[in-house]
Amino acid sequence: MTPILISGGRIVDPSQNIDKIADLLIENGVITGIDARINPPAGAKVIDAQRLIVCPGFIDLHCHLREPGLEYKETIASGTLAAARGGFTTLCAMPNTNPVMDNSSIVDFVNRRAKEEGVVRVLPIGAVTKGSKGAELAEMGEMAKSGVIGFSDDGHPVGDANVMRQALSYASGLGLPIINHCEVKELSGAGVMNEGWVATRLGLRGIPRSSEEAMAARDVSLAEITGGRLHVAHASTSGTVEIVKRAKERGLSVTCEVTPHHLTLPDETVLGYANIGKRFDPLTTASYDTSARVSPPLRGREDVAAMVKALKDGVVDFIATDHAPHSRTDKQCTFDEAANGISNLETTLGLLMTLVHSGGMPLPLLIEKLTVAPAKFLGRNLGTLKAGAPADVTIFDPDAEWKVDAKQFASKGKNTPLDGATLKGKVAATVYSGQVVFGG
Ligand SMILES: [Zn+2]
Ligand SMILES: [Zn+2]
Repeated sequence: MTPILISGGRIVDPSQNIDKIADLLIENGVITGIDARINPPAGAKVIDAQRLIVCPGFIDLHCHLREPGLEYKETIASGTLAAARGGFTTLCAMPNTNPVMDNSSIVDFVNRRAKEEGVVRVLPIGAVTKGSKGAELAEMGEMAKSGVIGFSDDGHPVGDANVMRQALSYASGLGLPIINHCEVKELSGAGVMNEGWVATRLGLRGIPRSSEEAMAARDVSLAEITGGRLHVAHASTSGTVEIVKRAKERGLSVTCEVTPHHLTLPDETVLGYANIGKRFDPLTTASYDTSARVSPPLRGREDVAAMVKALKDGVVDFIATDHAPHSRTDKQCTFDEAANGISNLETTLGLLMTLVHSGGMPLPLLIEKLTVAPAKFLGRNLGTLKAGAPADVTIFDPDAEWKVDAKQFASKGKNTPLDGATLKGKVAATVYSGQVVFGG
């Protein structure tokens, strides 16, 4: 394996509190050193990282790769390629495939496909219930042996409280978390976006914040009586954050994540990205933007600000993309009929950098939430540039401006409300396990 020397970059590794200009050496797939000046070993590939940030590869705890069964939306090959372009070296794949990943043979299949086709690491998440139907627990013990990192029926909540209780009890014996999509379906009803003035103006049915918060509260209570490990997927409201905060204060094993879009995009995005903040413009053809339809829905500005604060305070543990690729026909329809989800992997960094450029978040903190924080959740030696760790490295230009062109995505999902938007912050190269998988 060719050694790689990444020279002269600003190395930001929150796992070791490193933030300095230095060289980074990779040999035999692992990090072997960081120093002010390292002479390249014979035959080494040298990557000039002057004026670029060099950090651990990003880890995504929540993404949808759609294989098996929904390959028209995404495959392990296209999804991991999109990940590499977005600076991600580890993806955790949600089980809402077809068939649902609810037994070890499908987990083994995904593991095998990831080895054959994937350009970055894929860690599967098993379903909580058979077929994610919410009635009967899946073969959790078997799937744990096949290496799942947790269980989730994401796409759906675990609606039945007693099933959730059993799941938390059972998974706690396996030492694995239950990752719940917190949503009370009866409260969401036929809602398609956040309940608020934008929904009223557009004449679309709203989803109240309580739809998420009521289930988060229920789940915390169940985590308490079972001693189970609860992870709240894609938290989106200040109320959910409060519930998680109080649970943590009581010492419960409760964590939560936030998506790039819930940190940056208000519900006004449904009026068209270019119309954000222009409250009194007439409605245009950009309004009713189905690519801004997502579950949980984009919330109001106060909630967006609350999510940023909660991430900074540590109440929200890390950022996860909830990359949800869909085909054209899933989104080229009325808002009511459109599928939920945003294709996120390739715009995550650029979108999140808006927080850094506006002074809302220090860069090292943002990197921490994409690297060592999710690694801690996984309990693996990832998300770090420590000597001996797998050489997963992301190199990016924090100031490079680029125009999002969804047609150019490696992901099959072109569904993003950011198509045509200009972002500042672009991945230059991604190294996975000592191999350059993008750029360089
Ligand atoms: Zn979900
Ligand atoms: Zn999801």
